[in-house]
Amino acid sequence: MTTAQHSVHDAGVDLIRGQDPDVAAILDAEAERQATTIELIASENHASPAVMAAAGSCMTNKYAEGYPSARYYGGCVHHDAVEQLAIDRAKELFGCNYANVQPHSGAQANAAAFLALLKPGDTFASLVLADGGHLSHGLKVNMSGKWFNPVHYPLHYDESHPEFEQIDYDKVAEVCREHKPKVLMCGYSAYPRVIDFKRFREIADEVGALLFADIAHIAGLVAGGAHPSPFPHAHLVTTTTHKSLRGPRGGLILTNEEDMIKKLNRAVFPGTQGGPLMHIVTAKAVAFGEALKPEFRAYVQQVVANARTLAAALVEHGYRITSGGTDNHVMLVDLRTKDAELTGADAEVWLERGGLICNKNGVPQDPRPPKVTSGIRLGACAVTTRGFGEAEMRQVAAFIDRVLTAGLKGEAELDAEASAVREEVRQLCGGFPLPGHN
Ligand SMILES: *Cc1c(COP(=O)(O)O)cnc(C)c1O
Repeated sequence: MTTAQHSVHDAGVDLIRGQDPDVAAILDAEAERQATTIELIASENHASPAVMAAAGSCMTNKYAEGYPSARYYGGCVHHDAVEQLAIDRAKELFGCNYANVQPHSGAQANAAAFLALLKPGDTFASLVLADGGHLSHGLKVNMSGKWFNPVHYPLHYDESHPEFEQIDYDKVAEVCREHKPKVLMCGYSAYPRVIDFKRFREIADEVGALLFADIAHIAGLVAGGAHPSPFPHAHLVTTTTHKSLRGPRGGLILTNEEDMIKKLNRAVFPGTQGGPLMHIVTAKAVAFGEALKPEFRAYVQQVVANARTLAAALVEHGYRITSGGTDNHVMLVDLRTKDAELTGADAEVWLERGGLICNKNGVPQDPRPPKVTSGIRLGACAVTTRGFGEAEMRQVAAFIDRVLTAGLKGEAELDAEASAVREEVRQLCGGFPLPGHN
């Protein structure tokens, strides 16, 4: 690898190289993989060099259990400052009154929310998990499904319905009237349409539930004005910071209500976590600062435009996009219209051979098991960060179709076409260096 491919991040790798060539070699290989492949996983992004530098900073050395100005350890003066800055920026970014920036991840944020809002055995409502929900919304083997009582609401499954594969709000209300959940959850991992938070709040109010919006996927779009805000409708909001928000890997909790933040703060620490990851809190402050800039608004607008273009181009190649399209950064591609035998598992592996990185994903009402699936999930966040526009999205759709069409013919055809596409992908990526690369 030439030094030209190295980024600001690799200055750190040079330090490691002198001491630990084994780890440095792995980091070099991963940097090369990221630079030369097309990242289409909807939950991933390329954080800026400043965010990565903060995540690798001296702030990792400190215990800061507690909250700003109320710590259980001495020496926290600068940690107080950076956490308060992260909190203030998060509040400004999402237009709300309170923030907790300490959750180690999205699932940790949700665990804290469950601890704060529910008692073991209490009922909450969320989307049918296989149709776009997240494992922390009531999967049987997750804490949320083991210790609480999840009930699920469906999408419209009737093909003739104008909102086919979109949330069936009448059914949400029905499920809530029948089961009287304490908490109504919205926000998903694979849902390509706008979420009507106002409608959700009306349903929550009707049955006396709290509205819990998990905006892990769309947080960046919300922050940048490309998706309606869950405020003032949601009682509490959780999110990750590393998906469309483009920060470090982590979680965040937001609310407008003072008694709610008090409960949530206790549920994060000491309820579910010990010492906060202060290097990550620092990186969150940097990322929120970036997201407050006008460039970020332009970025998320382009993400949405790019996702729409990719979806439309795939339709032209013979694929079906669930719900008929996308309003946000993500789409679910139903592969069966291309070929009834084509599975998400095969597609994921074949595409990776062409340098196109994505994940298999069930489509609504998927008859195939989760390890096989009939679909792939694609997102536009990471490619938009590296500068892809709509012309490149059409190229990506053509790459995808070439690899999958070849794969359906056989191993020899796949091998030849995936190698050819891999080279073209490498070339295209060369023209769109990652942030901090040149
Ligand atoms: C990604 C995601 C999470 C969990 O995030 P982690 O940081 O992986 O724990 C939670 N909720 C939703 C809806 C998600 O998509």
